[in-house]
Amino acid sequence: MKILIVGSGGREHALCWKLAQSPKVESILCAPGNGGTAQIGENIDIKDDDIPALVKLAKDREIDLVVVGPEMPLVLGLENSLTQEGIPCFGPNAFAANLEGSKAFSKNVMADAGVPTAAFRVFDEYEAAVAFIKERGAPLVVKADGLAAGKGVIVATSEEEAIEAVEEMMVKKVFGSAGDRVVIEETLKGEEASFLCFCDGTNYAMLPSSQDHKAAYEGDTGPNTGGMGAYSPAPILPKDKYAETAELCIKPILRHLAAKGQPFKGVLYAGLMYTENGPSVLEYNVRFGDPECQPLLMRLETDLLTIMFACIDGKLDQIEVTSTSQTACGVVIAAEGYPGSYPKGMEITGLEDADAMDGVKVFQAGTKVDSDKIVTSGGRVLCVTALGDDLAAAREKAYEAVGKVHFDKSYYRNDIADKGLKRLK
Ligand code: ATP
Repeated sequence: MKILIVGSGGREHALCWKLAQSPKVESILCAPGNGGTAQIGENIDIKDDDIPALVKLAKDREIDLVVVGPEMPLVLGLENSLTQEGIPCFGPNAFAANLEGSKAFSKNVMADAGVPTAAFRVFDEYEAAVAFIKERGAPLVVKADGLAAGKGVIVATSEEEAIEAVEEMMVKKVFGSAGDRVVIEETLKGEEASFLCFCDGTNYAMLPSSQDHKAAYEGDTGPNTGGMGAYSPAPILPKDKYAETAELCIKPILRHLAAKGQPFKGVLYAGLMYTENGPSVLEYNVRFGDPECQPLLMRLETDLLTIMFACIDGKLDQIEVTSTSQTACGVVIAAEGYPGSYPKGMEITGLEDADAMDGVKVFQAGTKVDSDKIVTSGGRVLCVTALGDDLAAAREKAYEAVGKVHFDKSYYRNDIADKGLKRLK
């Protein structure tokens, strides 16, 4: 089979790496891909939000399956356009993708479906939002309704900060139309975990829990990033709690969307906050998280292509999805300055040495091939991922592999998985 993977991050390199292991996969195209995907398949220079060009590529190259990494093409209706052309696509349709594309939609679905989530109000008017903030007082969380590349959420500790956030979003339009509407919700306290399931519209198959590290610097300080590292499983969400978590946070959403005639097919990702009162859903993503995808796919035992077609065909109940009992830990190496501005074009060395280690895979993100070298081309450059018999072993091996990779002006967090280790103790 010929596969097209849409996206260019570490997640897409991991998808490419995993699908290439499937006996039925003959060739893989990536649009636009990165230095890592270029070593497995063929990169095609089409942006991930150029829906007509992606559909044309899939038709021209007679693609058997399109796998969508990021949320934007799904929200823009790539699945709908491909399905119209009879091309199978792994990822939800535009309606279901709104679970991520619109926070107001998502919160309303959660409320209607009876999923535990922070109390919230939706505002279309700046004055009404400000009046609500003054009435309630801080702390409050202010969220731009639409996609804002992970920057549209402000956890405001003062009334002034919350009003400023609303002004930035609704008046100054720093996120464009994504901030025309805002969600204001109660602040929850606790530890976060990610819980992802493959879904076929009705049935779901659970993946092990995982945990991301969003803050740029150690001790969860500094600005928020796309994610600086992840590990799986996350001790905060142990295996014996998966089934009840799915019953609480996944099943009601599938039932709700199916009843609307818009079944959810793809990966449904629940971002959870573990509070004193149990789990509460902070958000849904409609695709694999990056970097959670990398440790999750390192652990996945079942053939990924088989799972993806089972999701599309509504036959997930006919297969078993299993993951190794080992732990996986991924450490992101970023370019100095990220998530702000950062230099590009630095040569990366040591990739082969790190990859040669047993149970280690270096997933590339912001990289590209430059003649015979791999050079940096983005903020998050690599996700060095390792398997180990327990979290301590996986973490140790991941950092040993990190030590073998070099490029100028790099940085990484030294405390990935520390929270998990602390909880295990
Ligand atoms: P991303 O795209 O990076 O996953 P996002 O922009 O879709 O994030 P959310 O995941 O909803 O936004 O929120 C980002 C972060 O803000 C969460 O991971 C969490 O740390 C914090 N957060 C969101 N909602 C709340 C809340 N109600 N209480 C406390 N913290 C919250």
